[in-house]
Amino acid sequence: SSTVIWTMVITKFGGTSVADLAAMKRVVGIVQKRWKYDDNGPVVVVSALSKVTDQLLALVDLVKHGEMDTLNSRVEDLRQRHLEFSEISGEEFREEFVRGINQTCAELGDLVKELGVIREVSSRSLDAVLSFGELLSSRILTAALSNAGVPAAWVDARMVLVTDGVHTSATPDMASTSARVQSEVAKRLQKKFVPVIGGFVGSTHEGITTTLGRGGSDYSAAVIGACLGVSEIQIWTDVDGMLTADPRIIDSPKLVPRLSFAEASELAYFGAKVLHPSTIQPAVACDIPVRILNSYRQNGPGTLITSQPGDVNSSITAIACKRDVTVIEITSTRMLMAHGFLRRLFEVFDRFQTAVDVVTTSEVSVSVTVDDRQRLTPLLEALSEFAEVSCEQNMALICVVGSRLSTDPGVFSQIVGVLGDVNLGMVSQAASRRNITFVLSEADLSTAMTRMHDHFFSEKAFSTAQNEENLSN
Ligand code: ADP
Ligand code: ASP
Ligand code: MG
Repeated sequence: SSTVIWTMVITKFGGTSVADLAAMKRVVGIVQKRWKYDDNGPVVVVSALSKVTDQLLALVDLVKHGEMDTLNSRVEDLRQRHLEFSEISGEEFREEFVRGINQTCAELGDLVKELGVIREVSSRSLDAVLSFGELLSSRILTAALSNAGVPAAWVDARMVLVTDGVHTSATPDMASTSARVQSEVAKRLQKKFVPVIGGFVGSTHEGITTTLGRGGSDYSAAVIGACLGVSEIQIWTDVDGMLTADPRIIDSPKLVPRLSFAEASELAYFGAKVLHPSTIQPAVACDIPVRILNSYRQNGPGTLITSQPGDVNSSITAIACKRDVTVIEITSTRMLMAHGFLRRLFEVFDRFQTAVDVVTTSEVSVSVTVDDRQRLTPLLEALSEFAEVSCEQNMALICVVGSRLSTDPGVFSQIVGVLGDVNLGMVSQAASRRNITFVLSEADLSTAMTRMHDHFFSEKAFSTAQNEENLSN
């Protein structure tokens, strides 16, 4: 339904890419280059400065405890942090810049003080507080671009992303958002402006501020990019691209140069934080390539994600993992084989709005993993009404992704072999057979990841795959 047919990209910059003045200058350079050489755009989406969303969440905790003095000083810290960027606005606009930051921070201060009176924060109010991070960062980046001679135009994300009313994890309404993108974003592009939009934030049809869930700026960029029909969605971050494993667990993971949409979705869903799990949906729907790039090393190739399969030569593509997973085992000797049991079971998860990640079944039991423990206690009680229930916390999940998993049965046995004495809980292979998921104790996660990664991505395995690629080129 997109009506814009120009060739242009949308560039999204994460919190670490705008962490401080030096980082912000790099971002300005990247945008400036695209603006110079592309026919149109780019459209810019930016996250809150790194850690700011966490700090806003911490404010809300202080509100709940009525710690008003600390609250004031934390708002003041946030104001100072953002004012550190005033140099970037240029002499001429310095005063206006400082005034803007002061005013926004005063609004934030007023809001949290109001909440402090009743010491209660609804999810609706929480979203209002969280939105300040992106509102501030997008203002700063707009000023920085203008000062560098790029005709940037700040766009209020709340006027663009129309979402449902599920606060703290809202879903965009594509039809309404598309109309708003035409009026708020495309219009500015036609006038040769570079639109700058805060990620993560939206609002309901009624105009109430919402957020898309942690890490949601990627999703904002994909949604807006899809509405504009851009030629590429670029996710600029602090690593070289999608890596073969989480760099916080594995010492030197390798860059994955190409991924299919399906593989990328799977990795994102099962813990590869570099992409918000919903990012791929709008890209798939409009067949728009997604590229992950490092803002600290602009000239790297990054990871290109398209509808095409990734590297078909490597045994596996990448390994994702998630900590802090809860396993629930539901046992019922009488009822499991009876029809209607699974319906009844999952109705409970639906009632308590708890998403299930992995499911395995045996003759008398069903095991599921969940991420979200907010409603765990009532959920377990409801399940206990018709089955025996046990629950294990501090579990982890490993998801191995690769197209060869479906064609080469040897890969699976290699995985199990290399894991050795690591005690595996649930094992699940999707019908697509593009991935295998293991559940294990969190204490074993690092060992299991290291053993698998060493086996599949050691220098030797890697150079072999590279040679094959070179030969085929
Ligand atoms: P941004 O602020 O740019 O949105 P994020 O912190 O959300 O950045 O995502 C980037 C981080 O994701 C990396 O710094 C890295 O620690 C983490 N990460 C986890 N798994 C992977 C993976 N497989 N590949 C790349 N990064 C990963
Ligand atoms: N600032 C938000 C967060 O930290 C959104 C994002 O960075 O993508 O979750
Ligand atoms: Mg992110």
